Amino acid sequence: MTAGPAPASLPDRTPPRGSGFVKRLYWPRMVGMGLAMIMVGAALNQVGAPFWAWIMLLFSGFVWPQAAYICAMRSDSPYHAEHRNLLFDSATGGFWLVAIGLNPVPSVLMLTMLNMNNASIGGMRLLVRGWAAKLIGAFVAWPLFGGYLELSSSLYVVVASIPFMMICPVFVGVISHQLSQQLSHQKRRFEALSQRDALSGLATRGYWEIRLTEEFSRARRYGRSATLLLVDIDHFKRINDSHGHLHGDKVIRLIGGLLDAQTRAVDFVGRYGGDEFGLILPEIPLGNAVKVAQRIQSELAAVSVSEKPGSSITVSIGIAELSSQVLNSREWMNYADRALYRAKSNGRNCICVADVDRVATTARRATGRQASRAATSA
Ligand code: GH3
Ligand code: MG
Repeated sequence: MTAGPAPASLPDRTPPRGSGFVKRLYWPRMVGMGLAMIMVGAALNQVGAPFWAWIMLLFSGFVWPQAAYICAMRSDSPYHAEHRNLLFDSATGGFWLVAIGLNPVPSVLMLTMLNMNNASIGGMRLLVRGWAAKLIGAFVAWPLFGGYLELSSSLYVVVASIPFMMICPVFVGVISHQLSQQLSHQKRRFEALSQRDALSGLATRGYWEIRLTEEFSRARRYGRSATLLLVDIDHFKRINDSHGHLHGDKVIRLIGGLLDAQTRAVDFVGRYGGDEFGLILPEIPLGNAVKVAQRIQSELAAVSVSEKPGSSITVSIGIAELSSQVLNSREWMNYADRALYRAKSNGRNCICVADVDRVATTARRATGRQASRAATSA
C-alpha cells in the first residue's frame, strides 16, 4: 500500500501577534502627530525656521503615521515593529525639540507625552530606550539647525499647544482603559476554562475541591448538615475497551448530565477524576442523601439502551455525612472514598455509607494506644 499525497497544510488564519496593538495605536499616533505639528509649527514660526524644516514637519505629521502603520502591519512581527515605531516617534520628538530651540511649552509637553506613552506601553525598558532615541534625534538636528535656544514661548505658541495638551492625554487614558478591559475579559475567560470540565460540562476537580473546602467551613461554622457523595462508573475500562473511547466519553457526558439533573441548584457536582464524580449536598442529612443516591441509580437504570452505549451501565456510590468527628475537608473526602471502595468490594452497583463516628473513634483510640506505648517505652 502506498502512502497517499501529503495533506495540504491548512491556511493559517491567525492574525500575526501584535496586529491589534498596531491598530489600536493608529489613531492616537495620527491625531497626536497632527496636533504636535500645529504646536511645533507655531514654535518654528517663532524662530523663523528654514523652508525645508516645514517640509520635514509635514512629513512627520502626515506621512510618518501612515508609513508606521503600513510597515508594522506588513512586518512578520507587528508587535516588535510597533516598538521600533515608538522609538522613531521618540527620535522625531528629540529632533523637533532642537529644531524649535527648546521652546519651553512645546518642549515640556512633547517630552511629557512621549515619556508617558513609552512608560505605559513598554515600561521602564521602553522609557529608557525612548530617551536614547530622543538624544539621537537631537544630535541629528543639532548641526542642521545650528543649536540655537529660544527660551520663551510666545502667546501664539502657547495657544497652538492647547489642543495637544488637552487631547493627547485622553488618548493615553483611553488606550490604558481598553487594555485593562481586554485583560479582565481574558481573565474571566481563563477562569471559566479552569472551572469547567470540557467533556462533562461539570466543575473541574480543582474548582470542586475549593467548593468542598468552602462548604466544609460554612457547615461547620453554622452547625449545619451537609453530605458528600462520590460516584464512580462500574467497569468503565470495559466500556472503553469494547465500545471505544468515544463511547466512553459519551457515557461520561450522560452520567454528568444525569447527576446535574438529579441535584438541586445549591448542590455542587464536579468531575473528580476519569470516571469519578463528586457531589456536595449542603443542608442535606444522611437519610435524604441516601435517597438522592438511590434516585441516581434508578434514573440511570431507566435510561433507554439507545442512549446508553454499552447497555448495562451502573455506578457505585460512597456517602459521607459531615459529622463533628470530621476534622477537615480532606478527611471528609477520605471517608466518602472509603465508602466508595466498600461499594466496589461489595460487588458494585451499590451504595455504601461511611460510619464516620465509629471510624473516627477507632482511629483516635489507635492513636491514643500508640501514644501511650511510646510514653511507656520512653
Ligand atoms: P471500577 O468498576 O473498579 O471502577 O473499574 P473501572 O474499569 O471503572 O476502573 P477505573 O475506575 O479505575 O477506570 C477508569 C478508566 O477511565 C481508566 C481510563 O482509561 C478511563 N478514562 C479516564 N478518563 C477518561 C475520559 O475522559 N474518557 C474516556 N473515554 N475514558 C476515560
Ligand atoms: Mg470506575
